[in-house]
Amino acid sequence: MMFHVSEEHLMDYAAGTASEPVSLLVATHLALCPECRAKVADYERIGGAMLADSKPADLTDAALDAVLARLDEEPADLPAHKPAVRYDETTQRILPEPLRSYLGDNLSALPWRNVTRSLQEIELPIGDSGYRTRLLRIKAGQAMPEHTHGGSEMTLVLAGGFSDDTGHYGRGDVSIADDELVHTPVADAGEDCICLAVTDAPLKLTGPVGRIINLFMRY
Ligand SMILES: [Zn+2]
Repeated sequence: MMFHVSEEHLMDYAAGTASEPVSLLVATHLALCPECRAKVADYERIGGAMLADSKPADLTDAALDAVLARLDEEPADLPAHKPAVRYDETTQRILPEPLRSYLGDNLSALPWRNVTRSLQEIELPIGDSGYRTRLLRIKAGQAMPEHTHGGSEMTLVLAGGFSDDTGHYGRGDVSIADDELVHTPVADAGEDCICLAVTDAPLKLTGPVGRIINLFMRY
């Protein structure tokens, strides 16, 4: 895996200050990325150890040593969380927890909405205002319509893969795009590309077809 969630988002997640859509994307990436999981575990232990100190403002050398010493202690075991739902095989293969809980037990039976001939989407029921949280399915070998962003977009690949100007993204990779970037992701041949996308402002399509679609769609 080459493309990770930003350090900033990992820290927000560890501190519990990330919005629900961002938390969901980070948590799903963590399920697939041991590297970021280890970082978050460190942040959480540092945060927990600092909070346990009575006066975190006066962090003396001794206090810092105590914090660092606590990092070497074994973290408490998390309670085992077994989902009661039986997921179909594809769903189980593609969707890690916690994403599964948002989407139900059968990925193919979900109400996919056609955006273009090559792109389908499902809006996730997350009420956080200012964000759109979607599952995208780009047909194998097809391009997504060219678009820019009014804000930033994080896209986590769950199945298949895609390429754009910045590289190739496979399962677990996160593409981070801001309003500067015009990009045209093209899905790998062979398998539909399924992604979790969190956008903090509506996308704007820029190609000639895109401009027309913009008139009709909130995409
Ligand atoms: Zn990572």
